[in-house]
Amino acid sequence: MPSPFFNPGTTSHADQLAILHLRRDALVPTILRTHDDENLGYDEGKVTNTRFGSFPHSTLIDQPWGSQIVASEVNTGRRSNKRGGKRKAAALNDGDDTATSTAATTASPKTASSGFIHLLPPTPESWTSALPHRTQVVYTPDYSYILHRLRASPGKTIIEAGAGSGSFTHAAARSVFNGYESLRPAHKKQKTRLGKVCSFEFHEARAGKVQEELVQHGLEDVVRVTHRDVYNDGFLLGDEPSERSSPKANAIFLDLPAPWLALKHLVRNPEDGSKSPLDPSSAVRICTFSPCMEQVQKTISVLRQYGWLSISMVEVMHKRIEVRREVVGLDNEGVRRAIVYPKSVEEAVGKLRVVENRLKEFKTIQREAATAAANGEAVVKVEESNDSSSQKQPPRNDQKMAQVPSYELGRLVHRSEPDIKTHTSYLVFAVLPRAWSEEDEQKARELYPSRP
Ligand code: SAM
Repeated sequence: MPSPFFNPGTTSHADQLAILHLRRDALVPTILRTHDDENLGYDEGKVTNTRFGSFPHSTLIDQPWGSQIVASEVNTGRRSNKRGGKRKAAALNDGDDTATSTAATTASPKTASSGFIHLLPPTPESWTSALPHRTQVVYTPDYSYILHRLRASPGKTIIEAGAGSGSFTHAAARSVFNGYESLRPAHKKQKTRLGKVCSFEFHEARAGKVQEELVQHGLEDVVRVTHRDVYNDGFLLGDEPSERSSPKANAIFLDLPAPWLALKHLVRNPEDGSKSPLDPSSAVRICTFSPCMEQVQKTISVLRQYGWLSISMVEVMHKRIEVRREVVGLDNEGVRRAIVYPKSVEEAVGKLRVVENRLKEFKTIQREAATAAANGEAVVKVEESNDSSSQKQPPRNDQKMAQVPSYELGRLVHRSEPDIKTHTSYLVFAVLPRAWSEEDEQKARELYPSRP
């Protein structure tokens, strides 16, 4: 089956990775299972518990991607005497988003449903937000820019070191993947080089974990993980030093504490006489990712020694902009102000009550929609209730708001959100030109005989 990262189809499937979207910044990855593979003892099979309730995987499998799934009661009767009997209660209270091996207290054999989530297909972006962090990771704003500057495209080969938590690895795999060819009819298939990522990691447990995740995600044919200290042993593929082969890389990404120590291996003609890991038929692009300027200076100095050109440094300063309308009104002096401050405690309390009532109303609507979604009638029910309520009941606040022209809803303002996740680092880019072969030299001599 093709990796859900490349071809998720329209619905979720058993034994594939899915992303449970709790909130914008709270995503939970889970491999969907028809059976209780973690032996948690639920009657419902595998269950993922979140702060918004419990989700038996039977309710997540074979659903259209993007579906809203309502939490279910799960029967934990068999589980009550086993480990972790009170973990669900703890998870719900302490802000933990999930607990995969949770159960209700022994007093109640069932856990109550309490909310809903959205079921999303995995993408490198959602995986980056959801993955278990074993190291600092490269975030989406950085890797999008890096892959663009490395000219990563289907059929290319990228060397990556170190693999760390595999965040960059997934994005790199998608950018070079050209296995869509296998989905074409035979007569339309083109013979192209299979894109691949050669990922190196010297921490044995991390290398093993990344490899395990790549297999679970169906990416093992695109990414080859090697457990290796690249400073000492370089980037050739294979275990036996004498039998190693060249990955013939077109692009390199180094997220290492001392990238300059690896550069001696990334040359056309290594001093020790070993093969070059670079593609002899193309220019090679490199990016290094370092948190401090001294590291950047060392890297640039060594890049120059090895003949790298077009060296530049970039810092990605990504900002998420929140755009909304700020309520504008007349205060007591008839002056138009952006924010109308309350004049007394009573006025302030009154305003708070209004907000509280609106929030209650919003939550009721949300609950109704969630219940309706569970019964497969979400849209219809919401629309129906809107239609009938407009005849029988006075319009609600949100309906009144919808009738107000947008320019009267307030001044359009934008602010940057401070909490965007990027690991601020300096990106150094450079290019190593294509190697000249003897054949190229010969052709050049024929074309320009007068040149020395
Ligand atoms: N880019 C990764 C991601 O997006 O998840 C994070 C990489 S993490 C910051 C750096 C990794 O480099 C660590 O996992 C570390 O074990 C690995 N590393 C450090 N020195 C290394 C070396 N000499 N050879 C291979 N890997 C190395």
